[in-house]
Amino acid sequence: MTEPLVSPVVTLRDGLELPQLGLGVYKVDNADIPGVISAALDIGYRLIDTAALYGNEESVGQALRESDVQREDIVVTTKIWNDDHGYDAARRAFDASMDRLGLDVLDLCLIHWAVPEQGLYVDTWRALIDLQEEGRVRSIGVSNFAEPELREIIDATGVTPSVHQIELHPFFNQARMREVNRELIIPTEAWAPLARGGELFTQADLHQIAAMHDATPAQVVLAWHRQIGTIAIPKSVSPERLRENFESLRIELTDAQMDLINELDRGIAGRTGMDPATMRRIGE
Ligand code: NAD
Repeated sequence: MTEPLVSPVVTLRDGLELPQLGLGVYKVDNADIPGVISAALDIGYRLIDTAALYGNEESVGQALRESDVQREDIVVTTKIWNDDHGYDAARRAFDASMDRLGLDVLDLCLIHWAVPEQGLYVDTWRALIDLQEEGRVRSIGVSNFAEPELREIIDATGVTPSVHQIELHPFFNQARMREVNRELIIPTEAWAPLARGGELFTQADLHQIAAMHDATPAQVVLAWHRQIGTIAIPKSVSPERLRENFESLRIELTDAQMDLINELDRGIAGRTGMDPATMRRIGE
C-alpha cells in the first residue's frame, strides 16, 4: 500500500500552518459543494479557500460540519469583498461570513483586493488586526495588493500580513511580487495556479516533462508551485482531478525542468485577472 499523502505546510508568522496544496472553490455551485468538499477531505486536502464573493460559504460550512475530519485539522480561508472596505464595514462583512460559515473561529481572513481608488485598505486592515486580537480569526492576510499598498498597510499599522494571495502560474509567474513578499517575509499563495486550465496545458514542454514523470501537465504545474515555495489552491469539481492534483505531491522536478517551466512566463500579458494597481484587465 502506498502511504497516504499529506501536504507539506508553510508556517505563517502567527503560527498558523497553511497546507501548501489546498482547494479553491470559486465558481463551485452550492449544489456541488458537499460532494467536492467530502471528496477533497477524503483525498487529504486540509485547506479550503472560499470568499464572500463566491456565494458558497454556507454550503462550505455545512460540508465541514458533516465531515469526520476534525475541525481543527482544516484551514478555512474567506475574504472581505471590495464593497465592504472600511473599519466598520469590514467587521460587519466578517460577522456575516462567520454567520454563513457557522464557525466559531476562522482560520484565515484575507482582504480580497486592495482597491486603491477607494483608499480604505488601511482601515480594512485595522479591522482584521482587531479581529485577530479578539481571537475571532487565527491568521490575517491580503490578496491582490500591489507593492505600494502592501508596504503602506505595514508601515501604517506595524502589522505584516501573514500571507499574500496573488494570481500566479507559469504564464504569469510574478517573480517581482514574490521577491517583494520574500523581502517582507510574507509567504506567497497562488490563485489560478493552473492558469484556469486551457492553454497552459497545451504547452509542449509541460507534456514532455509530464511524460518523464508518468504524470499530467496539471501535476507538473502543481509540483512547480510547491518547489518554488508557493501555496497553491487549484479548483476542480471532479473527484478524479482532485485526486490527480493532490498526487502532484509525489512529483519532484529537476532544476532543468523547473527552468523550462520558468521560461513559460509571459509577464503581464500572462495575467488572466485584474491588475491590483488599476483594477483593470489587459486591454481594458
Ligand atoms: P485554477 O487555475 O485553479 O483553474 C481551475 C480550472 O482548471 C478548473 O475549472 C478546471 O477546469 C481546470 N482543472 C483543474 N484541475 C485540472 C486537471 N487536473 N486537469 C485539467 N484541468 C484541470 O483557477 P481558479 O479556480 O480561478 O483559481 C483557483 C482558486 O483560487 C479559486 O477557486 C479561488 O479559491 C482562488 N481565487 C482567488 C482569487 C482572488 O482574487 N484572491 C481570484 C481567483 C481565484
